[in-house]
Amino acid sequence: MTPKPKPRRTPPDAGPTTAVIIAVGSEFLTPHKIDTNSLFLTEQLNAVGITVGQKMVVADDAERLAAALRYGMTAAPLVVVTGGLGPTDDDVTRDVVASVLGRSLAVDSAIVEGIRARFASRGVVMPEVNRRQAEVPRGAEVIENPRGTAPGLWMHEASATIVLLPGPPRELRPMFEHIVAERLAGVAGGRRVYRRVVRTTGQTESHIDERVKPVYRLWRARAMPIDTTILASLGQIDLHLSLVSANRVEAHAALDAAVAELRTQLGSLVVSTDGRSLPAVVGELLTERRATLSVAESCTGGLITSRLTDVAGSSTYVRGGWTVYSNAAKVALLGVDPDLIDAYGAVSEPVAEAMAQGAQTKLDVDFGLSVTGIAGPGGGTPEKPVGTVCLALAGRTGSSRVRRLALPGDRERVKFQASQAALDLLRRALLRTG
Ligand code: ATP
Repeated sequence: MTPKPKPRRTPPDAGPTTAVIIAVGSEFLTPHKIDTNSLFLTEQLNAVGITVGQKMVVADDAERLAAALRYGMTAAPLVVVTGGLGPTDDDVTRDVVASVLGRSLAVDSAIVEGIRARFASRGVVMPEVNRRQAEVPRGAEVIENPRGTAPGLWMHEASATIVLLPGPPRELRPMFEHIVAERLAGVAGGRRVYRRVVRTTGQTESHIDERVKPVYRLWRARAMPIDTTILASLGQIDLHLSLVSANRVEAHAALDAAVAELRTQLGSLVVSTDGRSLPAVVGELLTERRATLSVAESCTGGLITSRLTDVAGSSTYVRGGWTVYSNAAKVALLGVDPDLIDAYGAVSEPVAEAMAQGAQTKLDVDFGLSVTGIAGPGGGTPEKPVGTVCLALAGRTGSSRVRRLALPGDRERVKFQASQAALDLLRRALLRTG
């Protein structure tokens, strides 16, 4: 059963504050191509206070597109359709829209001449098939396309405004920027969407969710409600906060207060509140403290050093690193005692600590960071299964922080999570938290 669309909250005279996007193109239903236009359209709409309630990717198929369009018109007062405006038979958007809206199509001779001139400027005669791109549904306004042959179309119906735009991003982008500036800015009464990202690491999605739920409940009851989304990626949970407001100062103040509340709730789990990555945050902390670092890596194979040096300016604090994959390398390059490896195994807290101390002393740095672990799929034992990772951080005073982790997932996931945990161990040491 098709769920009934929720009644729209927008009063008819307030202009559209929500939109539906329909991306047309069978290629976006394959594993090879992604609909990126809707990301751009969403960013542009959000900037003028219009939120996107739903987006759909539809095949080059008249029936499916008609169904999507009918639904879109009941679901939001603004429907933006991209793609399928080309001249060939599989470009069905114009015909479908005209038929769903019950409008006839007529060739606009000015558009034909524009297309003809475009071909002529390249010394080519316009193929007759391109006349299709000059067909305009009755009552539609034509939106010029300075970079291509298919113009955009803008139509008002009783229930919704429908905008059709060509698919190629380089054509669609300037056209939609123009539409936003000329027709949509101000419809939401100067409202726009404001956003913040609170980035965390070291806890699972459900743990984070549990801790923030009570705060979220309070927010929903406020005059300026804050929308929240939780986004989990490997070794990192991001909390996205957004609100729609016509008042920039009030919006920032509300989001600042919300971020502060989350900080109180989450404490040192918070890595950044401005989109900075964990390696960038670690880099800033090292720079502030004028501290230097070297890294000794076994199972991560250089990943930690690579991530640290992805940050511009990292030469200030990264002195160097070793990929010490074999026991021999650990002994020869870092001076790890072979008896320690024999006694405890290469993946053990004492060996991780010795690696970190070796890295610290060899380059005479403030911190030596190390990782040794079993990334899998082979090499696990009942005592040390795949995913067992030992981390250590050694300072100048000889003091070390050592951790043993059991990380889930395949080789690639274990490696990344190990790098994340090592960087977080360093971050916490620099902040002097647990
Ligand atoms: P044209 O006049 O070029 O045929 P069109 O409106 O028919 O334009 P499509 O044929 O659907 O557009 O797409 C042309 C190209 O534009 C696609 O091959 C694709 O590379 C790009 N494109 C179309 N839609 C999208 C989208 N939603 N996101 C990203 N790229 C897109």
